[in-house]
Amino acid sequence: MMRWSRACWLATAAVSCFVSNLVAQADEPRVTVGGQTYTPRSIVERNMGSEADQTTPFTPHRVIGNIYYVGTRTLSSFLIVTPAGHMLLNTTYERNVEGIRSSAESLGFRFGDVKLVLGNHAHGDHMEGDARLQELTGAQVVVMADDRAALEGIRPGGKLHPVDRTVRDGERVELGGTVLTAHLTAGHTPGCTAWTTTVQEGGRDYDVVFFCSLRAPARLTPETTAQLERSFALVRRLPCDVPLGDHPAQYRMEEKYGRLIGGNALAFVEPAGCMTEVEIQEAMFRALPPAR
Ligand SMILES: [Zn+2]
Repeated sequence: MMRWSRACWLATAAVSCFVSNLVAQADEPRVTVGGQTYTPRSIVERNMGSEADQTTPFTPHRVIGNIYYVGTRTLSSFLIVTPAGHMLLNTTYERNVEGIRSSAESLGFRFGDVKLVLGNHAHGDHMEGDARLQELTGAQVVVMADDRAALEGIRPGGKLHPVDRTVRDGERVELGGTVLTAHLTAGHTPGCTAWTTTVQEGGRDYDVVFFCSLRAPARLTPETTAQLERSFALVRRLPCDVPLGDHPAQYRMEEKYGRLIGGNALAFVEPAGCMTEVEIQEAMFRALPPAR
């Protein structure tokens, strides 16, 4: 429900009423999950951090198996390394591509060996750099069909957004023996994609989920409501030992990275925590005013 502030009733300009109510809405609803309280605003701030957080590379590191982190402090980018070249999941903003390249090279990998570019969802903070990445590496861009239209609207510097292959729910993408499966988890965008794979570490297999954001839009529609209902049910069925996400805060990267450099090679293994972010986003979704 909209709450009209006294200042708004007194305001003479309709525009400022509208703006102040949008801002007020961001602080509601409030949901508490695991003893922590969240609002729509706090989740966005947690995900995005400051301008510097969005563009400053986080220390590149091997997450587990053949998965490496090459993103910034708040925007994830993963390099998945295979004998036939690499896959890059999320190019983030175009201005971050050079940092991603430096991170990959500092880990000892050739950027020119990136063969496939994948993404979680069609928002600029995750996939704006796809065209630049392709210019630098010649990699093929693989996208969920349902996000294609939104992606083609992301044109940094006027560049067309490349799409070399589209996939649908359940489709697999393979490179050098590593298979990633695309799961349509729509709601945040129409083609929001959770990617899953299996890695080996210390002699056993681990199921990895690169979750797509499940953050509901501020105003639900019947369509986004139906999409999210399906997506929450779907992600709860995914086998998961290692939860990862399009923003590092979704899987508490910094805390786990601290354990990794402390000597725990399995720092990112957290089966019991795989659904924590799902629970936060589902609680928020259910607390929002229903679609009309
Ligand atoms: Zn987004």
